[in-house]
Amino acid sequence: MPELPEVETVRRGLLPAMKGKTLVKLELNRKNLRFEFDSDLAATLEGRQIADIERRSKYLLMHFHSAKNKETLIGHLGMSGKFTIFSHNEAKMREKQKHDHVVFYLDDGTEIVYNDPRRFGFLVLAAQGEWQAHKLIRDIGPEPLTDDFDAAHLAKKSAGKSGNIKNHLLNQKIVAGLGNIYVCEALFRAKIDPTKPASILATKADKPTKVCILLVPIVKDILAEAIKAGGSTLNDYRQTDGNLGYFQHRFVAYGREGEDCVTDNCKAQIIRIVQSGRSTFYCPSCQK
Ligand SMILES: [Zn+2]
Repeated sequence: MPELPEVETVRRGLLPAMKGKTLVKLELNRKNLRFEFDSDLAATLEGRQIADIERRSKYLLMHFHSAKNKETLIGHLGMSGKFTIFSHNEAKMREKQKHDHVVFYLDDGTEIVYNDPRRFGFLVLAAQGEWQAHKLIRDIGPEPLTDDFDAAHLAKKSAGKSGNIKNHLLNQKIVAGLGNIYVCEALFRAKIDPTKPASILATKADKPTKVCILLVPIVKDILAEAIKAGGSTLNDYRQTDGNLGYFQHRFVAYGREGEDCVTDNCKAQIIRIVQSGRSTFYCPSCQK
């Protein structure tokens, strides 16, 4: 399942292929993905220029401009969504694959295919200038890589919270785009026991504790490193099959149940527990 770094990598891959181009045709091969497509989606966007592609949390924001209008297509990759770019020459030989649900035909002959076997992804249109107020977006907390996400913010949101810190960090209202994998990795690097209450991040006066001050830059570093790794794989990916968004990171805790902890001199193994239906991987010796 793509998390923030993967979505950011997809954005960076799509941007040079789409920005400034005009959408000639939008092919919708079904009525819906997770949500039904707006009935006038193709008619609204065809002939428009793609002015920019931004990201908010795990949402891709494709801004479509015409002389009068500026609608935004909000996209989400769900569990298995994938964009593939076909250049003008590649597009001539493109064979339709199963689960190719949406195709963007651009004015330079580029074709961008959205494939999604499980169909948890979606593309929904936000009216002019209203994407920030869209119900999917409006309640999301600060972007983790901006200055809005800092120890003071995290402490304020954590004060008195008795729920475990793992689930707390997955709450999109507290911080945007953090998913299961990167929360596990951040708690491992910060040596925080994922079963501890979120309130360990705040003092009685709602100020950041030492743990909180340690954790925030670790979250930022882990995401930034993953985005950097994704960026470095972009070229390779583009050369092989044009697929964007799924590249293999190496994780130190996530998915490593039963393997030796990577911390120097730690003799313990990574264990897996389930918190709110999701797997948490951690070292019971390092993470206190
Ligand atoms: Zn350990």
